[in-house]
Amino acid sequence: MVKAAVVRENSDGYVDIKDVSLRPIKPYEALVKVEYCGLCHTDLHVAAGDFGAVPGRIIGHEGVGKVTQIGEEVTNLKVGDRVSIAWFYSADGTCKYCVTGNETLCRQVKNAGFSVDGAMAEACIVDAKYAVKVPAELDPVQATSLTCAGVTTYKALKEGHTKPGDWVEIVGAGGLGNLAVQLAKNVFKARVVVTDGDPEKLAAAKEHGADVLINRHDDDATEQLLAQTNGGVQVAVVTAVSSQAFTNAVKALAPAGTLVAVALPKGEMGLNITSAVLDGIKVAGSLVGTREDLRETFLFGAEHAVEPIVRTDKLEHINQVIDKMKAGKIVGRVVFDFTH
Ligand code: NAD
Ligand code: ZN
Repeated sequence: MVKAAVVRENSDGYVDIKDVSLRPIKPYEALVKVEYCGLCHTDLHVAAGDFGAVPGRIIGHEGVGKVTQIGEEVTNLKVGDRVSIAWFYSADGTCKYCVTGNETLCRQVKNAGFSVDGAMAEACIVDAKYAVKVPAELDPVQATSLTCAGVTTYKALKEGHTKPGDWVEIVGAGGLGNLAVQLAKNVFKARVVVTDGDPEKLAAAKEHGADVLINRHDDDATEQLLAQTNGGVQVAVVTAVSSQAFTNAVKALAPAGTLVAVALPKGEMGLNITSAVLDGIKVAGSLVGTREDLRETFLFGAEHAVEPIVRTDKLEHINQVIDKMKAGKIVGRVVFDFTH
C-alpha cells in the first residue's frame, strides 16, 4: 500500500489522501520510490475534471524519485537511479509524431496523473524508456519544477523561435511563468517583460531577471507594454489561466510576432482576423516537451541557468495548497515531500 493523492468521485477540484495498492510491474517498466512531487496547475484541472473526469486517479507529474525495482527487458535504468515522472509518460514510439520530434503529440500518448496514475504518491510505476534521469548535480526538489514547469516553458520559447535580443512577454508569473522568465533571459538571451496581477510575483520575476514588469490591473497595461518594448514583443508565452490574458497578449505582439499558448483555460481567445493577416501574427500551441527537451532543461538547472523557487510541504496539506493556487497566492511552487 502507498499513500497517494487521488481525484475525488465528484471531481470537485480537490483530492483525497488514500492508501492505494499498485499493481505488479510489467516488462519494460520500473517501480520508483517517489522523493518529491510538485503541484502544477494542470493537477487542479485534472482534479476538477476539466479534461474529462478521472475519479480515483493518482495525480502528479512533477515527480522525482529513485528506482527500486526494474522489470524484465529494462536496460536503460538500474536500481538506485534518480528519475523524473513527467506529464509525458509514454507514447507508441513509432508513429509520425514520435519519429519527427513531436512525441508529445502521439495519438497513443499516456499522461502521468491523468490517463495513468501519477507521482503524488509514495511510489509510482514508470515506463522505463520514457523516464528521464535526473543529473546528480541537480537538487531533487528543484528538479520537480523542471519536470513540468521548466521543460514546458523551455519548449514554448523554442516554439516561439525566440532569438537573442527579442522582446518576450511572459504572461502569468506563477509556477511556469517564473521559470519562463529565467529561461528567456539566461538561455535564450532575450529581453523579458512580465505581466501578472500580483506584486509579490512581479517582484520575484524582477529578482530572476525580468526587465519590465506590467501589472495587469493597470487600465493602460497594454499601452505601457507597447511603449516599453518599442512597439510590441516578438514572442508572448501565455501561462495565465484566463482566456482574456490570451486576447490581451495578441494585442502586445509586434508585427510577425508569435503567441505561444501554454495555459489551459476554458474558452476561446480573441484574434482579429484582419490584424492577424496585416501584421503576420502567428499562434502556436505548445504541449510540455520531449524527453530530449527535459534532458536539456535538467542541464540548465544543473548549471544554475534556471533556479526554481520551491518550498516543501506535507502531503496532508495538499487541499490547502490547492486553495492557495486557485487564489493565485503561490510564488513559485509547493513541492510535497515523501522522504519523511
Ligand atoms: P500558476 O497558478 O502557478 O500560475 C498562473 C499565474 O497566472 C499566476 O501567477 C496568476 O497570478 C497569473 N494570472 C492569472 N490571470 C492572469 C491574467 N489575466 N494576466 C496575467 N497573469 C494572470 O499555474 P501554473 O502551474 O504556472 O500553470 C499555468 C497554466 O499552464 C495552467 O493552465 C496549466 O494547466 C498549464 N500548463 C500547461 C502545460 C502545457 O504543456 N501546455 C504544462 C504545464 C501547465
Ligand atoms: Zn504540469
